[in-house]
Amino acid sequence: MLSLRDSISKIKGIGPKKCVLFSKLNIFSIIDLLYYYPNGYQNREKAKSLDSVGHMEKATIIGTVCGEAREIRTRSRMKILKIPIKDNTGRAYITFFNSMFLKKVFKRNESFYFYGSIHMAGGEIQMSHPEYCNIKEGSLESFCGIRPIYSLTKGLTQKEITNYIKHILFEESIMIKEYLPKIVFKSNRMCDINYAIKNIHFPLSSRALKVSKYRLVFEELFFVQLGLIMIKKKYLKSSDGIEFQILPQFHHLIESLPFNLTRAQKNTLNDILGDMKEPKEMNRLIQGDVGSGKTIIALLAMYLASLNGYQSTLMAPTEILAEQHYNSFKSLLEPLGIKVGILSRSVKNKEDVIKDISEGNIDIILGTHALIQDKVQFKKLGLVVTDEQHRFGVRQRSFLKKKGENPDVLVMSATPIPRTLSLILYGDLDISIIDELPPGRKDIKTYHVVKNKIDKVYDFIKEELKKGRQGYIVCPLVEESEKIDAESALELYNNLRESLFNPWNLALIHGKMSSDEKDNIMKRFKEGEIDLLISTTVIEVGINVPNATIITVVNAERFGLAQLHQLRGRVGRGNFQSYCFLVSEGKGEATRKRMETMEKTNDGFIIAEKDLELRGPGDFFGTKQHGLPELKIADIFKHKDILAKAQKEAFNTLENYKLLNSDEKFHLKLKVKELFGDLFKDFSI
Ligand code: ADP
Ligand code: MG
Repeated sequence: MLSLRDSISKIKGIGPKKCVLFSKLNIFSIIDLLYYYPNGYQNREKAKSLDSVGHMEKATIIGTVCGEAREIRTRSRMKILKIPIKDNTGRAYITFFNSMFLKKVFKRNESFYFYGSIHMAGGEIQMSHPEYCNIKEGSLESFCGIRPIYSLTKGLTQKEITNYIKHILFEESIMIKEYLPKIVFKSNRMCDINYAIKNIHFPLSSRALKVSKYRLVFEELFFVQLGLIMIKKKYLKSSDGIEFQILPQFHHLIESLPFNLTRAQKNTLNDILGDMKEPKEMNRLIQGDVGSGKTIIALLAMYLASLNGYQSTLMAPTEILAEQHYNSFKSLLEPLGIKVGILSRSVKNKEDVIKDISEGNIDIILGTHALIQDKVQFKKLGLVVTDEQHRFGVRQRSFLKKKGENPDVLVMSATPIPRTLSLILYGDLDISIIDELPPGRKDIKTYHVVKNKIDKVYDFIKEELKKGRQGYIVCPLVEESEKIDAESALELYNNLRESLFNPWNLALIHGKMSSDEKDNIMKRFKEGEIDLLISTTVIEVGINVPNATIITVVNAERFGLAQLHQLRGRVGRGNFQSYCFLVSEGKGEATRKRMETMEKTNDGFIIAEKDLELRGPGDFFGTKQHGLPELKIADIFKHKDILAKAQKEAFNTLENYKLLNSDEKFHLKLKVKELFGDLFKDFSI
């Protein structure tokens, strides 16, 4: 008897070699195999009569063996087994190469279903190597019907995978114990797990497939949501978070800012202050479009932490961004006696900085990934901020958080995401949205241009430069290699500098440069010494130069809309009318549609929704990077409605956790642990 946790090597026919092949598909145990869902189906049509089939057609036929199976030897010394069959409209021959053992199978007067390609040869109807089934052993529905198609790896065939799964499901008749809590199961009218698994592989009907798929999609989303809420609950429950005091100096800083906070900024700040003065831990996401002014909100929260005698830290995804934050924080906060520091890979006196952090000589520390190294220890960390959250995963956030004792956590994301997605990606966070830009901002005028018209764009850029403005040209994204991207940027830079833009000051910036070089160039650009910056996507996030009014993206078709929106957000940051040119290689339908979206709207939320619709969630961002479980069957875009239901159900389940029996509790925890892996080591309900 096989059991679910057994290795697949226990299945007849699977030896060490096959095990290696299966491991490539992440299949190790029987249960892995059962949860290896088909990625598509083939719908075999109903059986046809022999007088209605055509040459090369794939068909199901039903035939009775009407004579001796004969062996024929070909000139190439192959043996062919040829079996005559008939139905009441005609005759045909079934042939098999080198399969003499089948002779016993096809006994005279027995009837079979056959599925394969029809061949008309010399007035004969033939079907070679068909799939077959004795009509005594299976129904026509199950032989025709809907059949699974699995994604394969080299060395494993469709038939093999199908047969192994069939074997364990029908011959070993393995049973899975229902693991969804009864109440969830019932209130959502779901089929039980064994029915679902059987029918996801071998659907009895399209209705059975639908029902089964619903159940499996639902449970997947349910457990992901449950996991995320459990993380959040854990924070909520803890009463050992820090109770910050809102001191009067805090308001002085707000009043002395060179601008008034927008309504949306004020609301967000209030949410944050509300969290910070409570003794529980804050876990809040600020979602705001590019340029909506998230940084100042983070700065205020961090200032409040320092007023309360706590350190705080902000992690940014790039050095350029960390340095930009460092400079603006320093200029606002150092006059108030707050010590600001920076730690990134290329900072020179790293050891000193690390020492100052541990001794508490620095109040506010800005930095990159370098902050999560083991040797970085804080004296008294009270608030952790991550900027551009989409670049960091749940894991990295939790690393940084562990450097303090229940510090508050603030997460900032400039990639506005549709509400449906934020449900799943940020299920563990409270959300504040900055849905308004500071006053005076004009929409960035955006134009889609075909590459052979690029000279017109260059002329336009020159006109802007003459007015004293500055601009960016972002080079084609060649591939995920900073080196190759840098080379293509270099080429463009050399071309433009030598010819078209000869008297102007151009500079090149890319990720392969040392941080000093980049810093130096950005500084000169900010100070207006450089007119036009040729760049790879290193400028994508956060860079803030209000005098820059024009951005041109070459090979824009290679970028996702969300990324184009980010890039476009580099301009339109001051009071000047700004422009964005998206230059594409061709004008294919798909490209045209995408670029049209960019032309039509400046609203990041709408763009994100479109991006998701056009490209699907897979491309939108790797879930892997987020530390979220990979979804096997659910599609957060297609299954929006189920997602909403599953989330509600997950909330209810935790709310009524006490009412579950111990078996149900055990299964819930097990499933969530399986999904989230080590992230869940230190979580309990
Ligand atoms: P993002 O949300 O993209 O990170 P930033 O925080 O970099 O945006 O802010 C963009 C620019 O807007 C900065 O120059 C910042 O000083 C400015 N800014 C922020 N809030 C306001 C406001 N309420 N009024 C005017 N300008 C503001
Ligand atoms: Mg920002």
